[in-house]
Amino acid sequence: MIATSLRSIWERSRPVHPDTAAALRTRWAELPPVARNPAQLLGRHTVGCEGTHGVFPRCNLACTPCYHARQANSVRIDAEHTIKAVDAQMQLLRTLRGTGQHAQLIGGEVTLLGPEAHGDALAVMERHGRKPMSMTHGDFDYDYLERLALGADGRRRFRLLRFAGHFDSLMLGRSDAPRPVEEAELNPARRRFVANFERLKQEHGVDYDLAHNMTVTPRNIGEVAQVARIAMDMGYGMASFQPAAYVGNPRRWREDFHQVDMDTVWSEIERGVGTRLPWAHLQMGDPRCNRSAYGVLTRGHWVPLLDDLDPRDLRMRDLFLTHCGGIDPQQPTAVLALMIARLAWRRPALIPAALGWARRLLGRIGLRRLLRGRPRGMTFVVHAFMDAEVVLPAWEAMERGETAADPQVRAAQERLQACSYAMAHPETGRLVPACVQHSVLDPEENLRLAELLPLVSA
Ligand code: SF4
Repeated sequence: MIATSLRSIWERSRPVHPDTAAALRTRWAELPPVARNPAQLLGRHTVGCEGTHGVFPRCNLACTPCYHARQANSVRIDAEHTIKAVDAQMQLLRTLRGTGQHAQLIGGEVTLLGPEAHGDALAVMERHGRKPMSMTHGDFDYDYLERLALGADGRRRFRLLRFAGHFDSLMLGRSDAPRPVEEAELNPARRRFVANFERLKQEHGVDYDLAHNMTVTPRNIGEVAQVARIAMDMGYGMASFQPAAYVGNPRRWREDFHQVDMDTVWSEIERGVGTRLPWAHLQMGDPRCNRSAYGVLTRGHWVPLLDDLDPRDLRMRDLFLTHCGGIDPQQPTAVLALMIARLAWRRPALIPAALGWARRLLGRIGLRRLLRGRPRGMTFVVHAFMDAEVVLPAWEAMERGETAADPQVRAAQERLQACSYAMAHPETGRLVPACVQHSVLDPEENLRLAELLPLVSA
């Protein structure tokens, strides 16, 4: 018995699971040469994010824009279908990408699944070694969350829940703000979302990790700064912004989305945070798709984990990605301590480098803030989907093994090759970029699902 649990701790404290290490090598080899640079995280620390598709396409709000196909709302929510499809997709992801990856339980609106089925889907994802995150509009009450988090015996089902709440003024139909005119009208909903998780932790000991998502168009670009600040202050661990693209339901395209680009969104986030957000030294996939700034927040003050202007921090990045890339620090304390000890034993040179980095990070935070400010991680992200009209020819050419002559289509191909957001197709054994899923595959998939799961009239 003791020998078994010691063996289990020893195995779990392996810095990287061999399947994950193999998946990282494959991902690195698949990247286009331009993406294989010292800042790249794909293939060195992660194989990227994952998401479900076709598991519950329906939604009960209306977003302008909405990147889901028009047919999505003709598909009935069906828990049995959801669990079966999630299981098959996660199985394939586990086979091809190893363990420990972040996977979004995403479709239409996840809470249209009953709380029990929602919990079952999360449990299936965990069983396949994923870190699931439920993507929701956040328009649900504490009772729903409690029923999701607890089993029939009243005991907690999950140690930690990860949720991304999508809140912006382009969404119509929210129960307490059906037609918002400005972002500030959604602040009570944003706050209530976090408060529900705080209460769940207090009452049942279920920890949480929350992201705030916002779609950005010319209409609300001027409010990005205030939303970034609000997300920091309210307790979200990530604030993610998505400039709108022409993908999904054309009836929901109401503005000239091309007026908003990544640089503008990023500057607005920086304005809200009140400091420069360095990103280019840690890149997930292609910089035309993603930007992320990873840091520590203390009493409203954000500092980067790695200072991009300090060569010693860049050296630390290189050492980390070379010797520790792929490790998963979200482990029980004993397992994490053993993992660090094993790494230090193998690479003693890491010890002085890590201590130096920690000293510089503490210097950036400041002793007083550190002692009084309850520091926590805070990440800012911009993710820019591509327009469907460019994804389609890019994907078709890739399927024929061709490199497109048109520079715009070729750029889309490069982005798809370095994609950091994959969706699984167990029927073919393939993974596809989410851009391809939404731009090319969703319409037909939803037509098939609408036949399989027609709406039932009351
Ligand atoms: S889903 Fe599209 S925009 Fe996102 S990383 Fe993949 S290719 Fe880039």
